[in-house]
Amino acid sequence: MIWGSAGFLTGTVLGSFIKVLADRSLSNKSFRGRSYCPSCRAGLRWYDLFPIFSYLYLRGRCRYCKKKIGIEYLLVEVGMGLLIGFLFWQQSSDFQFTIFNIQSIFSLQFSISHFKIPIFLLELLFKTFFIAVLAILFLTDLKKMFIPDRITIPSILIGIVLGLIITVIKIAYLYYTLLQTPLGRQLLPPKNEYFMRHVYLIAEPFFGSLLVGTAIAGFFLSLIIITRGKGMGGGDVKLGAFIGIMLGFPQALFALILSFLTGAILSVVLIILGKKSFGQTIPFGPFLVLGSLIMLFWGAQIVDWYLSLSG
Ligand SMILES: [Zn+2]
Repeated sequence: MIWGSAGFLTGTVLGSFIKVLADRSLSNKSFRGRSYCPSCRAGLRWYDLFPIFSYLYLRGRCRYCKKKIGIEYLLVEVGMGLLIGFLFWQQSSDFQFTIFNIQSIFSLQFSISHFKIPIFLLELLFKTFFIAVLAILFLTDLKKMFIPDRITIPSILIGIVLGLIITVIKIAYLYYTLLQTPLGRQLLPPKNEYFMRHVYLIAEPFFGSLLVGTAIAGFFLSLIIITRGKGMGGGDVKLGAFIGIMLGFPQALFALILSFLTGAILSVVLIILGKKSFGQTIPFGPFLVLGSLIMLFWGAQIVDWYLSLSG
């Protein structure tokens, strides 16, 4: 519950940040500089920037010009709070905090297990970052059918760097663990192949995610060429690459299938309801975001379920 609450708070702060980045991407404004009221341009003070509370306290109006602030601000903050709160809660309940075990503090276990905390925190950061970027792109694509390069390109690079750091730390953790005991030292090269085999196993998902990101981008690009740019744009290509890098193989492919399915179902519903005519484009980005979130939270279970069907 502590983790869930910490996640909720983190999410609401990220939420107000995300809203600003999404708005500034759409209006092509600089990401630097402090927040200000869009109508009277008054610079906002720190006490205007409390997520949720500032909005409720000011009853959804600007403190300076009293102009109404869109409900979107509140929705994004609450939505991000719930998403990150759920993420923190789910991740912490999967994780065993061996470091808090009193016995382990007095044994060798301690020196080994304190490696686990940074790995846990880095993976949490990795997933939080993923959700934050998805949220920005969800907002821009839904509003203006636009997926900004200013967000996707740096995010792809950050995703690769974070993935690489996590991989290297996991390998260092394994090496350090083996070094602690005489038996472990027997498993290190050049005496034994054990260590190198596990280095390969640890590094494989990282290289897999680079490959699947490239494959999805290539697939989207060929769809654009075949359909001559109807229904999908260059922004989707970069979003696809980003999702591949962040979810890895095979989760990213499942996310893709989920997005196509939900997108197709909603299109049919909209056509039946007469809201859209056949061939009219709806943005694909929000479905990619939805599919990715489902795979981020329940990917392991969905892949297991699928494998149990075919096996
Ligand atoms: Zn104002």
